Formats: sequence, C-alpha cells, structure tokens
Amino acid sequence: MLKDECGFYHFDTGSVLRAEVASGSDLGTRIGGYINQGLLVPLPVIRELLLKFFRETTAERIMLDGFPRNLEQAAVLDEGLAELDDDLDYVIYLEVARQGLLDRILNRRFCSVCGEIYNLLTEPPRTPGVCDKDGGALVQRKDDTEEVFRERLDVYLEQTVPLLDYYASRGLLHAVDGTRSPGEVAQAILGILGVERRGTA
Ligand code: AMP
Repeated sequence: MLKDECGFYHFDTGSVLRAEVASGSDLGTRIGGYINQGLLVPLPVIRELLLKFFRETTAERIMLDGFPRNLEQAAVLDEGLAELDDDLDYVIYLEVARQGLLDRILNRRFCSVCGEIYNLLTEPPRTPGVCDKDGGALVQRKDDTEEVFRERLDVYLEQTVPLLDYYASRGLLHAVDGTRSPGEVAQAILGILGVERRGTA
C-alpha cells in the first residue's frame, strides 16, 4: 500500500536476496544456504547490496523493509546516508506476538509469477493455489516452516531487538500494532509519517 498508493520505493533486502538465489549464481547459492537455515546473510553481502542501491536510486521516498537487521547493518545504513547527505526520518516497529507471527508464516503463500502475497486464513486467493492477479501458481517460501521460524525468531531476538533502543534513543522509533488488518496498519503508519494516500489529499 505504501508503495502503490503513496509512491514509496520498496527496498526489501529479503526479496533482493531471493532474486539472487533464483538467478542461480554462485553468490545466490551461498545466500540460499543462509536463508534456508534462518540465519542472517553476512554483512559484506548486505553492505554491497545497500550501497549499490543507494548509488543507483533516484527515488525520493524510500521504505527500507527487513533492513537493518542488527547494529552493524545500522552503521552501514548511517554510512550510506551520510554519503547521500540524507537522513533516516522514521523507524516503524510492527508489533506482533510470537504465535501471530507463526500463524502468518505457516499460512503465507506467494505468486510464483508476480510475487503477490496471500494468507490462506486472512487473505486467501479466490481459487485455491492460484493468484487472483495473473493466474500464477501460489507457492510457499522454503524458510516458512516452523523449524526455520524458530531460528529466525532467535536471530531476531538476539540481533535485531537491540535496534529498538538504538533508534528509540535517537527519537526515531514508532511502534505500531501489527496484529490489525493490513489497511489499518497502513493507515496507522501513514498517520505517523503524515503522508496522504494518492487521490485522497
Ligand atoms: P525476510 O524476507 O525479511 O523475511 O528475510 C528472509 C531471510 O533473508 C532472512 O531470514 C535472512 O536469511 C535473509 N535476509 C533478509 N534481509 C536480510 C538482512 N537485512 N540481513 C541479513 N539477512 C537478511
């Protein structure tokens, strides 16, 4: 919604990494090993990815999603922003309890053609297994299993949670109740950013 209705460029490190895996490159094979175990991809890969994006982008509003994942990555972000002479304006913390995360992950499917995301319980496709938009087959991410989820959550608690204090101390952190519907969550975020949806201004 932030991308389509408010013109944000969506830079999602997970999607960029999965595209590299899908390309079949040697780098992609190594990245896939980390993703499938629920571990963070090493810093040099993420650093290169972000700095390349910053060198090439012309976007005015950028939404970083799934990044930074730890304090080292936050330092890379600060470095990249300093080069651009730009600032981070908001950090949005979507709060969802453990069981809610697991339910979403186990029920998540995405279109193998356009990437549209579904949830079998809350946002199911009209026809089971088929994308509403382009008829592509719906598939499950390899790391969306209970076993990998446990590892991903451990990594999150250990490495990502310290970012909350880091950004709170800089006055940038805003918590949003992520258990509500996608529309309500988007609305809450837009309220924080002070941004209108296109056509509603
Ligand atoms: P996500 O798509 O954000 O759920 O991320 C899926 C997986 O991609 C993670 O479990 C990591 O293996 C990898 N990944 C995504 N973003 C990052 C990042 N910023 N740093 C390191 N690994 C990442």
